[in-house]
Amino acid sequence: MRIDTSRGAQTPVARNPGRWAGIVLVGAVVAYTVGILFRDSAEFDLLVDGVLALLCVWLATAVAGLAVRRTHMRRYDILGAAAGIACLALADTYYVVKTGMGEEPPLGSPADIFYLLSYVLILAALVIVVVSRFRVMAWPVILDSTVGTLGAAAVLAVVLDPFLAPALMGPFSLEAALAAAYPLLDLLLLAAVIGIVVTPGRPPGGGWLPLIVGLLIFTGADIVYALLELEGLYVVGTPLDAMWAAGTSLIAIWISTQGHERLSAGKPGKAIPAQTVPTLATVASLAVLILGTQRPILSLAVVLASVTLAMAALPLVFRQRIRLADVSHQAMTDELTGLPNRRALNATVPDRLTADAQRRSAVLLLDLDKFKEVNDSLGHDVGDNLLQQVSNRLSAQLRTADLLARMGGDEFVIHLHSCGETESEAVALKLRAALAEPYDLGGVTIQVNASIGIAHYPGQGADFTTLLRKADMAMYTAKSTRSGHSVYRDESGETERFHSLASLNKALLDDQLVLHYQPKIDLRSGDVRGVEALVRWDHPTDGLLAPVSFLHRFDEAGLMSPLTSIVLGKALDQSAVWKDQGRTLTVAVNVSSGSIIDAALPDQIEAMTAIRGLHPSVLVIEITEDLLMGDRDRARTVLTRLRALGVRISVDDFGKGYSSLSYLRELPIDELKLDKSFITSMTDDARATALVVSTIGLAHSLGLEMTAEGVESSAVYEALGESGCDLAQGYYMSRPIPATEFDIWLNTHYPEPIERGC
Ligand code: C2E
Ligand code: CA
Ligand code: CA
Repeated sequence: MRIDTSRGAQTPVARNPGRWAGIVLVGAVVAYTVGILFRDSAEFDLLVDGVLALLCVWLATAVAGLAVRRTHMRRYDILGAAAGIACLALADTYYVVKTGMGEEPPLGSPADIFYLLSYVLILAALVIVVVSRFRVMAWPVILDSTVGTLGAAAVLAVVLDPFLAPALMGPFSLEAALAAAYPLLDLLLLAAVIGIVVTPGRPPGGGWLPLIVGLLIFTGADIVYALLELEGLYVVGTPLDAMWAAGTSLIAIWISTQGHERLSAGKPGKAIPAQTVPTLATVASLAVLILGTQRPILSLAVVLASVTLAMAALPLVFRQRIRLADVSHQAMTDELTGLPNRRALNATVPDRLTADAQRRSAVLLLDLDKFKEVNDSLGHDVGDNLLQQVSNRLSAQLRTADLLARMGGDEFVIHLHSCGETESEAVALKLRAALAEPYDLGGVTIQVNASIGIAHYPGQGADFTTLLRKADMAMYTAKSTRSGHSVYRDESGETERFHSLASLNKALLDDQLVLHYQPKIDLRSGDVRGVEALVRWDHPTDGLLAPVSFLHRFDEAGLMSPLTSIVLGKALDQSAVWKDQGRTLTVAVNVSSGSIIDAALPDQIEAMTAIRGLHPSVLVIEITEDLLMGDRDRARTVLTRLRALGVRISVDDFGKGYSSLSYLRELPIDELKLDKSFITSMTDDARATALVVSTIGLAHSLGLEMTAEGVESSAVYEALGESGCDLAQGYYMSRPIPATEFDIWLNTHYPEPIERGC
């Protein structure tokens, strides 16, 4: 986990042009209001009614537009609301220009088309918010907001009686219909806001305040306008116009706060009591009906009030039922993230397993690495915010048939429907990649890694408890080996085969370790510069095992040094073969932290290269950052001696570990290998690309070469070339393969032997 409290001066995450635009917008609205209040007459004034009025609404459009850009057009609610503001700006521009020319547009002009469109777009955005974001509570919300809306409509029907009456009772006229349409549309907007406010457990909080206040101001202005227009009294340039500008700006500011993944809605806390809205609506409707007995009111008001009463009071049983369902839903829901909780897991996974007993499935247990550090150093609010963002990112990666739940703390459980081992590992990689993106937690940029343990049904357990226990054990393996994810391997009978010291020793003595090679390509010339040697265990019964499943065992058994020696020997043997073929390729070997502080290593390497007739410069040693956190003096001594021999030193998985960069200057290093997690997300995330580009710049400024690993597509390969990256390694060029296959690969792609003095 990396915490960047320097506010990530160079990271685009921390830059916030939206905030500046928002401040300028508020300034413009204040200037406009002051302009209106302090001038002598309400005559059309080019500066105030023209320039300032339009400046306000176009700045609001810009603020909303920036939020759209920041969210890469992926949030339809933001997109809709921003398009709504843009329509308002267009309508205002038409209106102001025409008025300035002395021809005030009548009701029903093109301005009205844009005004109406803007209401519809903003309304659609709010409906998306209510339905998608709070879908957990959709039914009670819809019911309460309908009752609330109808009640408010009944009251408004009385207030707006003077101009609703001609629209509804007189012959149809476009003007009257439009005059009534605006406040009625406002009403719908308010209904959606009420829907958000009454959502249990999701109070409006600071983030919603601009929207609610903005809409109230806007609606108020619309009502006053409708009443004035009825009398033909409306003129441009009164405080009424400033109200619209203020309302629009507040809505734009709300949009800009939504653009952040922040917890702008605050922690779930005191929600408005569930009965508040229906009770208020009931009281208002009763008041309307009582008023109706005293003086004539519109029959529409009477109908609305009656329907409100019926909906709020009559189907008590129905409402009660929904509330009951709601309570049990809440008991099954994690309050912070809205995901199913531990109780829900225990209730549903057993059924999911047995419902389709023929099908394989997988249980994944995901735990954030060093989450406690975030909580302790940055506070629980930030921790909660992080958990919410994590849960959003996880949900986005899963299919609807999968189940994601929060167990508590920083632990999440996923049940992958119809899923074998290869698929579950692919999902684990995908989830980790999604979580590895930096998080913006209100000015602090954080990077978090996760460890995932996987257990499969039915192979590793026929019931959920067993599967969860095994996933938990696998998760601890993943954590202790820093491998990211780990699949549970059954212990039964394997203690002998797999875990015991004897089998490990046998692997070393019986030559069961084999190397696979993956090419490193020079991005400028396209040549293959060298290879990385990656160890595999050709296990007599289990087949070819990947390093994540056995390296930690060797480490725990204290057998890492002999393993490193074997790998070095094999890699150098292969290097000698290539040299004989006229190919000069560097070969990179991964050396664990334990082995690098072995003072005998430099002499050993010198002897090993000499005996094969190789210069030590064919060898690259890949070390990881954690080494540098330990006995740094000792590491420096060994590395300095290796470098003096001509061995190149490369820092592997750069960016994944701890962010102390001072060692880059202190230690003799030639190359950085930027961690896969940054590279794989490059194509679909501009921020990842920016991070990669700035890291390449950093490496070059320190005189280091940069290798990108995990290059999986031509797009990423091209982008890296353009970013000035030196070397690339990844599945796109070739997976790690045995030497014989590698020779075929070389002859296919590079028929001419490559001559390079080495
Ligand atoms: P590493 O040093 O970061 O090696 C790169 C890993 O990324 C390799 O996994 C490789 O197969 C994988 N990889 C390469 N290209 C791509 C790609 O385009 N996309 C993705 N998703 N992955 C790619 P592998 O071979 O399973 O090795 C895992 C780790 O085991 C290595 O990570 C290294 O830390 C360790 N390891 C491997 N061989 C040795 C060894 O001989 N000694 C020591 N101490 N550690 C080793
Ligand atoms: Ca490596
Ligand atoms: Ca690596």
